Amino acid sequence: MSITAGRVIPCKAAVAWEAGKPLVIEQVEVAPPKAMEVRIKIKYTSLCHTDLYYWEAKGHTPLFPRIFGHEAAGIVESMGEGVTDLQVGDHVLPVFTGECKECAHCKSEESNMCDLLRINTDRGVMLNDGKSRFSINGNPINHFLGTSTFSEYTVVHVGCLVKIDPLAPLDKACILSCGISTGLGATLNVAKPKKGSTVAIFGLGAVGLSAAEGARIAGAARIIGVDMNPKRFEEARRFGITEFVNPKDHNKPVQEVIAEMTNGGVDRSVECTGNANVMISAFESVHDGWGVAVLVGVPSKDAVFMTKPINFLNERTLKGTFFGNYKPRTDLPSVVDMYMRKELEVEKFITHRVTFSEINKAFDYMIKGEGLRCVISMEE
Ligand code: NAD
Ligand code: ZN
Repeated sequence: MSITAGRVIPCKAAVAWEAGKPLVIEQVEVAPPKAMEVRIKIKYTSLCHTDLYYWEAKGHTPLFPRIFGHEAAGIVESMGEGVTDLQVGDHVLPVFTGECKECAHCKSEESNMCDLLRINTDRGVMLNDGKSRFSINGNPINHFLGTSTFSEYTVVHVGCLVKIDPLAPLDKACILSCGISTGLGATLNVAKPKKGSTVAIFGLGAVGLSAAEGARIAGAARIIGVDMNPKRFEEARRFGITEFVNPKDHNKPVQEVIAEMTNGGVDRSVECTGNANVMISAFESVHDGWGVAVLVGVPSKDAVFMTKPINFLNERTLKGTFFGNYKPRTDLPSVVDMYMRKELEVEKFITHRVTFSEINKAFDYMIKGEGLRCVISMEE
């Protein structure tokens, strides 16, 4: 038992009071965990595009004040009733989508879309009692994705926590809790390229580059990177991408350019931009007979996907995935192990580091499209 167990913990958190306004470091009170909940001390967190998207609150219902953050690593401080598979001091990664291990999805080998704990961007409270565990002077502050890692302490449902190898350095493992695993899993678990095959990656941010990392690990012979931002190509060279296509350099659709480069199309494509037209290009870029395209980017609510049905009849397959099809609690420890065995290079995704008090700098880097991941250290 830790000495703080069962008590409210006063600590620092970065609170978003309004859409698009800099976060403010505030003293918050973090209530003890209730049944099936765990309170963790965050050691490192990083900024992912999804935090930025909901902080900007464009195109969806704003929910403020809120504590953002979902890519992180921490240590268990205390547990609520019913938590049996974690202990004080365990090293954990919080994940934006969970695994209850009881529902039809959790019992299916094919799905990671847990009925109870699947991603919910609109909820700002805990499932247990519909209340927040964060407050300032008695006024509740909303949670985000059930994780809210921009706080020294946070409360998370046990089904959204992954116990990992205590030897894994948390300042690096933190980025495995969202973007890197998403891209990696999209390739390894869903696209499943064969050794020697050709893979196209659309969008070369951290998610796309981790999809490329998956293609490299799977032994793809050619990895074609597609992006409109030429600055991305420099970074992408370190990720095993063998050829680059900038759609702006061509006066025909990018799928035609790729068909010419590959004698009819790529074996696999992975779309990591969230733009519906890019999704169509990614699908139409795969070879007939066997090609598989995987959608990862999150489109705007009203986006529509249009293609000729004959493209399917010609034996092309279209798939989509959340979190790279990984079941967080069951599968993520093995991704951490891949990193520990040096099969997965995590360090090269970390282009910036800041302290907690400088958290707004991480937002600036992402807004400017500078670098890939910025890790925020909770210790000043
Ligand atoms: P990012 O902004 O860092 O990278 C996106 C890249 O796409 C950029 O390099 C940009 O230049 C490029 N791009 C944008 N429009 C393009 C176009 N029309 N043609 C070619 N390239 C274009 O973002 P990220 O953090 O890598 O995330 C990528 C996407 O993945 C986002 O949509 C994000 O919401 C989504 N995502 C999905 C999941 C999931 O589980 N499915 C999880 C995390 C993130
Ligand atoms: Zn479930």
